[in-house]
Amino acid sequence: MRKRSNSCFCAFCRSERTVYRKRHVSATDIGLSLLASALLSFIVWQDFDPRLVVFFVIAVVTAELFVVFRWRMSIACAKCGFDPILYKKKPELAAQRVKAHYQEKAEDPLSVFAPPPKLPVLIRKKA
Ligand SMILES: [Zn+2]
Repeated sequence: MRKRSNSCFCAFCRSERTVYRKRHVSATDIGLSLLASALLSFIVWQDFDPRLVVFFVIAVVTAELFVVFRWRMSIACAKCGFDPILYKKKPELAAQRVKAHYQEKAEDPLSVFAPPPKLPVLIRKKA
């Protein structure tokens, strides 16, 4: 059986996290949507009805939205807020989001108990 997710490290804070591999619906999902729409057609009209296409389209669109949303939400790091896809498109906006995430964490009193990010230590060189 194929793995559903990959374990990787955040490019910004180096913390380990899990990212879903699946980006879009597969043939299996489409087949299950067809089966579900056929069953729904039997429940509603007690026969195969051409209107089951509507159920099928709704099921496939819902499945695609769910899979894409799940994948997209797993890409951004939960610990530092770094989003590599956003970083490729708009690096300034990605940096702004990370700053906002850390600002939010600094204001949250419960974040004292959270493990710190594994950011690289910056050492100033004396001139
Ligand atoms: Zn991170």
